[in-house]
Amino acid sequence: MPVVNAREILLKATREKYSVGAFNVTNIIQMEAVVETAVNKKAPLIIQTSVTPSRFLDPRVFVAVYQAVAESAPIPICLHLDHCTDVDYCKRCADAGYTNIMIDASKQVFAENLRQTKEVCDYCHGIGNISVEGELGTVSGVEDQIKVSEDEAALCNPEKAVEFVEKTGIDLLAPAIGTAHGIYKTENPKLDLERLSRIAGLINGKVPRVPLVIHGGTGLKEEVVKKLVALGGSKFNVSTELKHTLIDTGYEYISAHREEYNPGKIDSAVKKAIMKNIENWIEILGCAGKA
Ligand SMILES: [Zn+2]
Repeated sequence: MPVVNAREILLKATREKYSVGAFNVTNIIQMEAVVETAVNKKAPLIIQTSVTPSRFLDPRVFVAVYQAVAESAPIPICLHLDHCTDVDYCKRCADAGYTNIMIDASKQVFAENLRQTKEVCDYCHGIGNISVEGELGTVSGVEDQIKVSEDEAALCNPEKAVEFVEKTGIDLLAPAIGTAHGIYKTENPKLDLERLSRIAGLINGKVPRVPLVIHGGTGLKEEVVKKLVALGGSKFNVSTELKHTLIDTGYEYISAHREEYNPGKIDSAVKKAIMKNIENWIEILGCAGKA
């Protein structure tokens, strides 16, 4: 299947009320695990990288692997750059072949967020079929290089969200509604479901225009995830859980096989464990069979 952007995948998800998993990867083994599981489940897929691993491997390397696997896969797959605060790096990844770019200027004042987000939209839409995600309000916790304390975190204003969508031309919106990056400190995090519902109604009420993104998937209870999906969250970001699985599984394998020097076996153990995570998420999000 040709490579696709996130907008193409998510408009359908918004209309049909399911959500597509956007899974963070830091290396090629994780990318293979994610793709293989989505293919098995016939689910559309968004692979995403944060800025640090993208810089570490070089965006061109991620894109080369992505294109190789996506073109031969029977499902639509998008490669997304997550939470990039640097307009120039957004453009660099778009040039390299990422098919969805997130410019995260959510820590800036509204006018500056708008200006930077519009600049990235104009660029990405100008050079090809690349969709753009913007964020309004701030998600607390730590994601890649961005740290937002709970006091600093501000929820998304629904009326401002409409203005933001209209003035920037974004394809996807991540509205802050109380989810957090990292591990939740409490068992029942306070989420503003009414706010999500109001934003979804204003933006996608009659005709889906700009699919909504939920950040901070790790640690949310299944029934909460399902509620967020039902209210219009059609891209669901999962990162921390996959990082923990990679490190814990690698550590356990090495601890139990201290005399063995076959890296492929560690990779297989990690891949298998990640595939289990992804399988579970695809079931909860309701995107199995939707490719
Ligand atoms: Zn995020």
